[in-house]
Amino acid sequence: MMILYSWGTKVKKSTYLGLRPCANCDGYTHYYLFRQVRYFSIFYIPIIQFTKSYFIGCSSCMRGTQIDKTAAKEYKERYARFPTQHHLERVFEMIQTWSAKKEGKEEKAQLLQEIGKICNFSGHEEYLENLIAEIDQGKQEEAACIEES
Ligand SMILES: [Zn+2]
Repeated sequence: MMILYSWGTKVKKSTYLGLRPCANCDGYTHYYLFRQVRYFSIFYIPIIQFTKSYFIGCSSCMRGTQIDKTAAKEYKERYARFPTQHHLERVFEMIQTWSAKKEGKEEKAQLLQEIGKICNFSGHEEYLENLIAEIDQGKQEEAACIEES
């Protein structure tokens, strides 16, 4: 009997790290902690698999930075209760809508309250603050460009 066996490598998403600007994609993309897995299969069934390396990067273009096991563990723990990709997409839209309003723009506290109804950023308040500031600044720059031309 012939035994079919092979070694392979695959990349697996491990932990979601939020929407972040990717220089390569030119915009916000979903960032993840990725795991590079090496596996051995017999008749296409994986028998042994082990993590070869970790990297954090953009899920669209897969560019990222390799990190060691200790750093990966820290990311996993730190982002264990981080909102999901689905929630982040909604939050992103909410901030954009809020930022687009020039007149009658509600207070940021109200926006934060609305966001709080959807998901919890506790422990990641700084990330949310930065995201709001970046989106709002981007919008202001766009508006300024339009006014100038
Ligand atoms: Zn990218």
